[in-house]
Amino acid sequence: MIEATELTKRYGGRTAVDRLSFTVRPGRVTGFLGPNGAGKSTTMRLILGLDSPSAGRVTVGGKAYADLPVPLRAVGSLLDAKGVHGGRSAYHHLAGLAASNGIPRRRVAEVLDLVGLPEETARRRTKGFSLGMGQRLGIAAALIGDPEVLILDEPVNGLDTEGIRWIRGLMKSLAAEGRTVFLSSHLMSEMELTADHIVVIGQGRLIADTAMRDFIETNSRAHTLVRSPEPERLRTLLEAAGAHVRLDARGGWRVDGPDAPSIGDLARDHGVAVHELTPAHSSLEEVYTTLSRSSVEYRAEDRPQEATTTRQKETAR
Ligand code: ADP
Repeated sequence: MIEATELTKRYGGRTAVDRLSFTVRPGRVTGFLGPNGAGKSTTMRLILGLDSPSAGRVTVGGKAYADLPVPLRAVGSLLDAKGVHGGRSAYHHLAGLAASNGIPRRRVAEVLDLVGLPEETARRRTKGFSLGMGQRLGIAAALIGDPEVLILDEPVNGLDTEGIRWIRGLMKSLAAEGRTVFLSSHLMSEMELTADHIVVIGQGRLIADTAMRDFIETNSRAHTLVRSPEPERLRTLLEAAGAHVRLDARGGWRVDGPDAPSIGDLARDHGVAVHELTPAHSSLEEVYTTLSRSSVEYRAEDRPQEATTTRQKETAR
């Protein structure tokens, strides 16, 4: 479990993390979302003791990072996959980590297996590693101490589809083992598939700490996807009835306003055939874009924080 309480980090006059309180619980994947510059990396550095808070505190398993007896056994992290010395082999990098943390050497083979790096590849210098291999090595290093808590900053950055699917599966299985998995990503569609819970921040402040499904359902606009062999006739009808109609990315119309039964009835009353009528919710990306935009607008106006939540809810409705 990770617990941040009123966590604050100021760099000179700039507040990167602003009275942030949230809890990351075990047994599920928690996504950490926020636009560039929102304070995600700073927060992760504070959790990992790489930077110290200006105020407030953050603990991992009830302890500040500096007080963990063997940090690698409690928390594994991947902040920058390129942080491996290129002249060493992956095997030596992992063996060095194991030795300096009192972790048995056999764990090296176990984590190599876990991340799908063959031993012959692991014996090569990391300089020639592809991005995907570097990422697997970074995750192997994070897992070497068999930690309860995992913190990964943008773990799927630059990976191909196969690599992304692999990381998604691994994160879910680590969470299913009862571990705490906290990962940031700016890829919303990927986060929607991977995370069960999300912590959303904007300009250093908390916007939401909630179940993924609740976040989408509470903040999204319900709409209906409609297909008809007479699309223009249907659109004219719908617009005359006050609906907002636009083309959906998957083809057909995306209709805001009337619900699915009303659309079906309207089409029937005018003899227009309907081939699909699907109630739908906004994607995570749409909800997130609306909320983070209102957060930025709000900060520009510099209102008190309590007002943000209300205003964001209103904007999102
Ligand atoms: P994110 O990871 O969400 O993109 P960061 O945590 O990297 O955001 O940055 C948050 C804010 O803090 C940004 O405005 C950034 O410029 C600032 N910042 C981050 N690290 C430093 C630092 N070492 N010195 C000064 N400002 C910093």
